[in-house]
Amino acid sequence: MKFVSTRGGVAPTSLDVALAAGLAPDGGLYVPERIPQLALDHAGATLADTAALVLAPWFEESHLRSRLPRLCADAFDFPAPLRALSSPNDHLLELFHGPTAAFKDYAARFLAGCLSGLRAPAASAPTTILVATSGDTGAAVGAAFHRRDGFNVTILYPDGRVSPRQAHGLGCFGDNVRAYRIDGSFDDCQRMVKHALGDTDLRARVALGSANSISLGRLLPQTAYYAHTALEFRDRHDAPLNFVIPTGNLGNALACWLAKRMGLPIGDIVLASNANDVLPRYFSGDEYAPRATIATLANAMDVGAPSNFERLRWWHRDDVELRAAMRASSVDDAAISDTIRHASARHGVVPCPHTATALKVLEELRATGDRRHWAAVATAHPAKFDTIVEPLIGHAIEPPPALAAWLARPATSAPLANADDALGTVLSGG
Ligand SMILES: *Cc1c(COP(=O)(O)O)cnc(C)c1O
Repeated sequence: MKFVSTRGGVAPTSLDVALAAGLAPDGGLYVPERIPQLALDHAGATLADTAALVLAPWFEESHLRSRLPRLCADAFDFPAPLRALSSPNDHLLELFHGPTAAFKDYAARFLAGCLSGLRAPAASAPTTILVATSGDTGAAVGAAFHRRDGFNVTILYPDGRVSPRQAHGLGCFGDNVRAYRIDGSFDDCQRMVKHALGDTDLRARVALGSANSISLGRLLPQTAYYAHTALEFRDRHDAPLNFVIPTGNLGNALACWLAKRMGLPIGDIVLASNANDVLPRYFSGDEYAPRATIATLANAMDVGAPSNFERLRWWHRDDVELRAAMRASSVDDAAISDTIRHASARHGVVPCPHTATALKVLEELRATGDRRHWAAVATAHPAKFDTIVEPLIGHAIEPPPALAAWLARPATSAPLANADDALGTVLSGG
């Protein structure tokens, strides 16, 4: 299996090169030349087993091939339960049982394992992983690489636009993980990271890697929990499972679409956006028009220019074909608050603000008379967003043990100018 760039400017390359590079040298995103077809009748015994089966075709020519089961066992060592909600055929796929209580733990841990495995044993200078975060990526990547030999992590996050607990989580690692707060939006952070990764002078001096959702090493592993859930679901219910997915940069939902295209029993896919409605506008027929980011309660989805859209577009002939692949709805802050407030009574769970967008879209689907099996995807634990959720529900939420352990550690971050060359300066030791 070879990988090419969405911008067509690089020769077909191996998975290992694409994993290590993050972004393609022509500024595009790596995509596989073709999508392999899986003939899986049943899920593996565990999520990790399914992950190894689903990821195998991509790794056929990789140096990591023989280590894939081990990599999956390490990354997928916490469960992704599908919980029944109060109403018939409503389900919740809980992806927040990892060390930083968000779905990004799976892919961050898998990518960290891959990059460790690909690192030359005697390589001298450490590789610095750059990560722009709207809150959860940075913590997941920080946790995945914390004290890992041969790696440093530099996290950029938008100052004041992440929850207090998220900010704490970004700054609490120390050691080889550094956090910088930027006076700007997530898109500014992402732009700075892309700029540094595209700076050949800088890269000649500092070994850089990327861990954003543009990295193939993030996208591919996310197919695993959709595959595992859908296969187990078909065994039990003899029906495909449809998904509503809280969406920002479009990495998680794109992985679901990819799993579906690989032949897994996944039905319809609906994206739930917050007030940053570039995707809902596009899927309802408008031109694709990235916009400035609006700050919302579901801050990890505050993305005005979803990077993975470039991959989605590459995989479809035209807008007509692409718009048939999925749908998207926007949920504003008022509806997010309302959904959190009533979720316990209506659904039997307390959601984080991101998960609330999916529950709201599920409620809308039910209101149109859709009676099929739907799973809303729970992307983070509500205790991570206690300052939003607790006042709405009127009581405290117990943090899961991993989150409680974070909160007990001290945290520090440094300010960094919102300017293209600022990151290069600190990376060069200036
Ligand atoms: C990152 C994140 C999202 C959005 O996922 P994308 O892959 O960027 O679309 C949704 N919810 C939470 C809690 C997140 O951390």
